Amino acid sequence: MKDRYGREIDYLRISVTDRCNLRCRYCMPRDIASIPMKDILTFEEIVMTARSAAELGISRIKITGGEPLVRRDVCHLISMLKKIPGIEQVTLTTNGILLKEYLDEILAAGTDSINVSLDTLDPVRYQKITGFDKLESVLSGLKLAVNRNIQVKINAVSADWNSSFGSPVSDDSSHIHEDIKALIGLAEIMPVDVRFIELMPIGYGKSFPGIPHDLLIREIKDIYGGMRRISRHGNGPAVYYTIPGYRGNIGFISAIHGRFCSGCNRIRLTSKGYLKSCLCYDTGVDIKGILRGDASGVLKHEELCRALEQCILSKPDSHSFTQTEKITENLSMSAIGG
Ligand code: SAM
Ligand code: SF4
Repeated sequence: MKDRYGREIDYLRISVTDRCNLRCRYCMPRDIASIPMKDILTFEEIVMTARSAAELGISRIKITGGEPLVRRDVCHLISMLKKIPGIEQVTLTTNGILLKEYLDEILAAGTDSINVSLDTLDPVRYQKITGFDKLESVLSGLKLAVNRNIQVKINAVSADWNSSFGSPVSDDSSHIHEDIKALIGLAEIMPVDVRFIELMPIGYGKSFPGIPHDLLIREIKDIYGGMRRISRHGNGPAVYYTIPGYRGNIGFISAIHGRFCSGCNRIRLTSKGYLKSCLCYDTGVDIKGILRGDASGVLKHEELCRALEQCILSKPDSHSFTQTEKITENLSMSAIGG
């Protein structure tokens, strides 16, 4: 289905939990009150919503969180979503901590690809950013997944972690270049795309200065002279570059400065059952009331379709991340799903 600006909306991000096993400084830096389980959508409710969404033209679904792998039986949900007519792809984004443990189930469920969020390959900085000494678990899950031939992408937030909060993540400022070079190095040794994402001023992300991507790309080009932009690769907003001899590409998701809103193809469903039309604003439609309301069968499906249409038609033409006073979203990214 097209929105008011002619954009084809075919992608739904579904957050299955607000809980997480990490405490990333820019996302959920400390324990925050969790949504009671009774208020979180059940798998049946999620599947019902996805069926209606598929009828409106949603063909790709991303499972996110919080950390999706901490929700029990999430792979069962993936396999249910994969069976919905019209749903062509179900993918997963994870911090990777439990990837090794659940990889067999993830593959058996038919997951089409996995995004692993990883901001540094330095164990000390990893612990400072995420609160846990778990880098090895992530790397072993990542390697195993690559060896099992599922498509894997790395997502790294581009931020200067030293510029905020009391304890810096590194004693010297060269850590930015070290982290970026080490992450890019993964694309040399493995067939993985490494994508940098501009930090967005959502939730705790407001406390960190992001690194603007025009600057980042210039600096990376200085280091990797042969890096060349390639034509569109993938379905999302990433712009990709190739480095000669590398097995994976380098992507940039320039959420703030890239002004990619004209190509925005997505809506989001939070774990509480709120359909969001844009990351930047709190506008959307509460569908839990419909899911748990009196209507049944075809009537419920029709109500869901109307709510989804309303959400799609309420999509704004663009975000206003550079005018922070206009941002109305107050949830943390862990509650939205990124
Ligand atoms: N826990 C899973 C993970 O880390 O992949 C899924 C949820 S997490 C909220 C999804 C993505 O959002 C992660 O890649 C994370 O780095 C990113 N993220 C969180 N806060 C962000 C922010 N303020 N700006 C940009 N990306 C952010
Ligand atoms: Fe958890 Fe992902 Fe947020 Fe980190 S970015 S705290 S892993 S939800």
